[in-house]
Amino acid sequence: MFNFIIFGPPGAGKGTQAEKLAIALNLLHLSTGALLREEVSRQTNIGQRVQDIMAKGSLVNDEIVDEIIKNQVTIDGRNAGFIFDGYPRTINQAKNLDVLLAAKALPLILNLEVNVDELIKRLVLRGQALGRTDDNEETIKNRLFVYEQETRPLLDFYAHQKRLISVNGQGTIEEVYGRLENEIEKIK
Ligand code: AMP
Repeated sequence: MFNFIIFGPPGAGKGTQAEKLAIALNLLHLSTGALLREEVSRQTNIGQRVQDIMAKGSLVNDEIVDEIIKNQVTIDGRNAGFIFDGYPRTINQAKNLDVLLAAKALPLILNLEVNVDELIKRLVLRGQALGRTDDNEETIKNRLFVYEQETRPLLDFYAHQKRLISVNGQGTIEEVYGRLENEIEKIK
């Protein structure tokens, strides 16, 4: 079993690359952002609790996302592994995920490196194309700030454990995908 975390700031291309890797490697693609947006659109209990937090670009409570991930990881048995997208975003979430996967395989981190000007450009374009309400300028700034404060420190956590693989996330979708493929080839 192979498990991966696609990692990087908002706008790094995590969702796009995770989708491609999921198909190529028969992984279940689990995006907490997508799962949370579904809760909001269905106006479930959780959806109502998280919608304002998401609209601001702040982080939802660890307990909520941990529970969502736990449910997904325990029900699925059909795939060769998982690719987590947008999770973990805090050290607590990272520790929680390792506990959940301890009996399977600890995930490797595929980190997409993109400079901040490019991130803002991509997020603004995505807001226009997909109408994601959190892709507006003010929320984008907050999400990048939250990433720096809460999520980037995970890179040290994983580097320490020799689970970190970083690639240049700039260029075309195919160029970035090719770099990821190369790295994965080395560990197979
Ligand atoms: P994303 O689609 O990954 O950019 O996530 C959209 C929003 O959902 C984020 O700005 C957060 O408000 C929330 N969210 C997604 N994943 C997490 C997570 N792992 N921890 C906390 N909040 C999350």
